[in-house]
Amino acid sequence: MHHNLQIITQRIEQAALRCDRDPKDIQLVAVSKFHPATAVQAALDQQQFVFGENRIQEAKEKFIPLIEQTPNIRLHIIGPIQTNKIIDAVKIANVIETVDREALLSPLEKAIDKTGRSPKLFIQINIGEEPQKAGILPAEANDFIELCLKRFGSKVQGVMAIPPVNQNPTPYFQRLASFAHAYQLPEISMGMSADFEEAIACGATLVRVGSAIFGNRPVKI
Ligand SMILES: *Cc1c(COP(=O)(O)O)cnc(C)c1O
Repeated sequence: MHHNLQIITQRIEQAALRCDRDPKDIQLVAVSKFHPATAVQAALDQQQFVFGENRIQEAKEKFIPLIEQTPNIRLHIIGPIQTNKIIDAVKIANVIETVDREALLSPLEKAIDKTGRSPKLFIQINIGEEPQKAGILPAEANDFIELCLKRFGSKVQGVMAIPPVNQNPTPYFQRLASFAHAYQLPEISMGMSADFEEAIACGATLVRVGSAIFGNRPVKI
């Protein structure tokens, strides 16, 4: 793990430099889903403070005690959120990367009001138009982004996507980046263990890397 984190950090730097970007403009989100708190602690010991989890329940169990000890942890929710879990997501997340449908917006607004917390929001786009994946369809994304901006203003900070597997991700990354540019959203979350370097070349400001840091998960998602 130890060594992996160092290698990924170096690869991010090199990928940034290859396309004349400042490595500081790319944040590594270490995706710790299915890995225990001890793995997160090992990453914290190496000054990695930004993590991604895709299930709210798991995120709460793992991170509430960790955040008590290490308040500068930054947690990103990167999985689909059921409406009844949105309050828990708002309570724990610094960034919700998966705002993906209109039905989530009122519960999200209520949860923000009720908790007084205001996580940054990213719009998830189903960039490959895959039926099994979450995210707003590209054809509906402009309207949805505009609606989110109207309701949440500057809390809306970026876009996020997971391109189809086993295809060249570059055209999908470019398409996602174009949505961010159209609305001048500063953050573009794309790129995982297999393709984060390509994502950086296409403008990613956050890469979400799990297995290349923590090893394989027990179950593939
Ligand atoms: C699991 C997951 C990742 C990390 O995937 P790896 O291939 O293990 O790097 C990134 N983003 C999302 C949304 C995920 O669910």
